[in-house]
Amino acid sequence: MSGAKNGNQAPFPWQRQAWQQLLQSRRDGRIAHALLFAGAAGTGKSLLARQFAYSLLCSQPDESGLACGQCRECRLLEAGTHPDFHLVAPEEGSKNIRIDAIRQLQEESALVVGEGRSRVFLLDPAEAMGTAAANALLKTLEEPPPGVHLLLVTSRPEQLPVTIRSRCQQLPLRQPPEKEALAWLLEQRGLEADRAAWLLQLAGGGPVAARALLDSGAEHQYRDFLQALGDLARGEANPSRVAESWLSATSLETSLRLLANWLLALLRTQAAPHVADPQGKLLDEKATVPVSRNLHRLLDNLFESQRRLAHNPNPQLVLESLLLEWQRITES
Ligand SMILES: [Zn+2]
Repeated sequence: MSGAKNGNQAPFPWQRQAWQQLLQSRRDGRIAHALLFAGAAGTGKSLLARQFAYSLLCSQPDESGLACGQCRECRLLEAGTHPDFHLVAPEEGSKNIRIDAIRQLQEESALVVGEGRSRVFLLDPAEAMGTAAANALLKTLEEPPPGVHLLLVTSRPEQLPVTIRSRCQQLPLRQPPEKEALAWLLEQRGLEADRAAWLLQLAGGGPVAARALLDSGAEHQYRDFLQALGDLARGEANPSRVAESWLSATSLETSLRLLANWLLALLRTQAAPHVADPQGKLLDEKATVPVSRNLHRLLDNLFESQRRLAHNPNPQLVLESLLLEWQRITES
């Protein structure tokens, strides 16, 4: 794979329809000024948006519409120094897109440039804009300067103000069904089928996220996590210690995401017991599986903690209280 950005890599199979629609609107000269790439997490939306951005800026896209990777524009993009490509994202260590970043976008997009020149602003993740930032963006969305393309990427479109969403054209992005996602994962990395299923489950069904899990080596860490959840269920571990050890290995955000994916997987196997639990490793057979009502309540509390992430909570307290609840509902 070339560079870190892969802006000229072919779209994922489940994104082909969206890609064709983008190319068609480009051929017809009616690309919406603002495009919303909304869909499930871990399915490659960011990459698709980037591919389209690169394609818009490349001086000679290939027959499949992808950036050539060779021209001057492409080389600047690959080097991260193209003057017409702007990534608008939270700064390191922050979860929010600052209003200053949107003001800068306004100023840069309002500059008068040569005719026919495209300028692309990629907002990723778009829901990281607070109310003030979103309001500022609205001005540019209402009167987009010629040649300006705003690409908004989000896994949580419901967190974007309706005023923003209604001014964007939404793409038909879909999450691939489990069977298709598994087939892709197997083809990509040549793993055993049950390991691929396991990774997909940990990744919440997103095949790109599953591949990243595998490539980052985080899979082993997750096995330790699951071991700890089993230990907690059998009363053989202490929630406070487990929380401490998870947080020394990863962030609260990642811990919560793993826990959510895992609880959802547990609920799915409860709802459809005929579907095999990959490797039978979701939960130790010696542990009591809580009734689904209790699992749902725990999941609700977890989602609430995820919503509050932006308010800088105390990670140890948040995680510990969820693990304590998990231990409590597995006791009976
Ligand atoms: Zn090019």
